[in-house]
Amino acid sequence: MTDEFFQFVVAESFDDAAVARLKKLGNVVHLEHCDSATLAGAVSDCDALLVRSAARVTGDVLASAKRLRVIGRGGAGLDNIDLVAARRHGVTVVYTPAASTDAVADLTVGLMLSLIRGVCSGDAAVRAGRFSQARQACVGRELSECSIGIVGLGRIGRAVARRCRHGFDCDIFFNDIVKPDGLDFSATFLEKQELYSASDIVTLHVPLTTSTHHLIDDGALKQFKPGAFLVNTARGEVVKASALIEALQSGYLAGAALDVFEHEPILADDPILMASRTLLTPHIGARTIGGLNRMNLVVDDVVRVLRGERPRFAAPG
Ligand code: NAD
Repeated sequence: MTDEFFQFVVAESFDDAAVARLKKLGNVVHLEHCDSATLAGAVSDCDALLVRSAARVTGDVLASAKRLRVIGRGGAGLDNIDLVAARRHGVTVVYTPAASTDAVADLTVGLMLSLIRGVCSGDAAVRAGRFSQARQACVGRELSECSIGIVGLGRIGRAVARRCRHGFDCDIFFNDIVKPDGLDFSATFLEKQELYSASDIVTLHVPLTTSTHHLIDDGALKQFKPGAFLVNTARGEVVKASALIEALQSGYLAGAALDVFEHEPILADDPILMASRTLLTPHIGARTIGGLNRMNLVVDDVVRVLRGERPRFAAPG
């Protein structure tokens, strides 16, 4: 065990047990805000930085860190950390890749069911005194009648596929840039355009990268089945919002459920708020008791790195 006294910067919320663990090893500074300027100032003299998904650890932030050794990202996506710059500065990035898999998969299936049964529009109609009209107008679909197109068959994509295949007997189509092995459910690979035109519900589970930025744009949406649904619990930037809004307003898409947005928190004048047939949630995919508890375990890997041990979950690459 090392006798070093470390400086930790905690930029977003971690539970008391995780913070207590850090306090045994050094001094902990909590940030009220995690904008770039605040982060850059705070990391200049720390050994470890802990973030979730809101803090953007850019090359500029990393350039101001004189002795940073490790960044702990509680959660799955790594798009908020400049991994190339981290490598260049000799900073190890650790994360909790599987912490939110089940939480996000559950939400995804819940959003699918809500969309195809008109749960949110039904709720609004009942509250607005339109019970009978809304009941009469509503004819939903059963999930087992829907083919599901999964873009990105990684941890979350597979968990969604298992739920839809084993729980609802759906036909599953998938697209991934890596050939998956060891699938414990039946699923058919399709090229993206084929997947879009074959699926009643397309659900996105790719990371945000240069190749997935605006993956779902006007061209992609034109390939969708008329009357299809889109679910995005991946990252807002994977969908070109203006194209989605047009596809919804024209009635070409039957609906979309979005848990993630290009700007978070969503801006008050964001046009998606006015778009019809949308179901919007405030980036809650990972926010379950189990999911949050597992994210806090990133502290274990932060401590491993500081002790010179090999972390369990280092960022790939
Ligand atoms: P993962 O790395 O296990 O799986 C991602 C899959 O996408 C991989 O199989 C990869 O090969 C594939 N992929 C990458 N680029 C692709 C492309 N261009 N086309 C097709 N497939 C491609 O990641 P995961 O744990 O399944 O998480 C997926 C994403 O979900 C995360 O990166 C994160 O952005 C998002 N997420 C959101 C929430 C939330 O709260 N809504 C929570 C956790 C994760």
